[in-house]
Amino acid sequence: MFGLRPGHRRTVLSDKHGEVRFQRRPQHRAEWGKRIIRRLAAIAAEAFFPGICCGCGQLFRLPGRSVGALTFEHWMDRFLCKACIAPFHAVGSPLCPGCGQPFASAQGADHTCGRCLERPFGFSAARAAGLYEGGLQIAIQQLKYHGRDTLAQPLGRFLWQTLDRYWDPTHFDRIMPVPLHPRRLRQRGFNQAGALIREWPRLARRQGFCPPPDWIDPRTLQRQRPTRPQTGLRRDERVTNLRGAFQFDDRRPGVKRLKVLLVDDVMTTGTTADACAQVLLAAGAAEVRVLSLARAVTDWD
Ligand SMILES: [Zn+2]
Ligand SMILES: [Zn+2]
Repeated sequence: MFGLRPGHRRTVLSDKHGEVRFQRRPQHRAEWGKRIIRRLAAIAAEAFFPGICCGCGQLFRLPGRSVGALTFEHWMDRFLCKACIAPFHAVGSPLCPGCGQPFASAQGADHTCGRCLERPFGFSAARAAGLYEGGLQIAIQQLKYHGRDTLAQPLGRFLWQTLDRYWDPTHFDRIMPVPLHPRRLRQRGFNQAGALIREWPRLARRQGFCPPPDWIDPRTLQRQRPTRPQTGLRRDERVTNLRGAFQFDDRRPGVKRLKVLLVDDVMTTGTTADACAQVLLAAGAAEVRVLSLARAVTDWD
């Protein structure tokens, strides 16, 4: 038979158009062999190198390559076990168009909250990916307090996806993380908000947008004095605690007439983001918006 080595049989196949084609059985077998070996390797890897959940520390079975919607579960399923991932609650309408505070009732349209009616924030809008609870809270706490910086990449990609969902990333001239005081930065080793946006220029280029070199700017906005943690403080105490905490570095390129996106890991009352926005607006910024991974809801409006 033409061109076949002795011992190699060929199978005659007929496709739907009636054309005859040939397939070499040994090749076919080799393909199957490779597939079986790959599957056995995957089973062995699962048995000997299972995932270790960043949340509870338990071993868990790593899922196969995930397909489908890019949900929070998709981004975290190699880092958190099923029990720790859930529940995740995306922030959605009805919410305050200004500060992004979601309302307790799932019914009704977006409307301005009491806080924004009483005294509007300096930033024009704030949005978050999800509520600060369940898997998102675990992931943020592990990143922030337990130094698991491997979580920064999937959480950063999830936040980029959130930015793209709410606003056009090309709208912003500068993207700034809420700064940490240098002493806190030394203790922690990294600014979690800065770690979340580290990969964004690459993600932007992947979407065909070529950002300017100083698009991500972690230096212009600085925290000049340490502050007490805002948790547990009343609203007026939070404002006092942050008074004069942030400053604008005049040696850096200015922000006059620029649109700035401020990024943080968690937004609670908005007092910190507001203090940063006031500094940027005083330096001439045209607009400041805020994006956070999580929104902690203290008192439902
Ligand atoms: Zn777990
Ligand atoms: Zn509001």
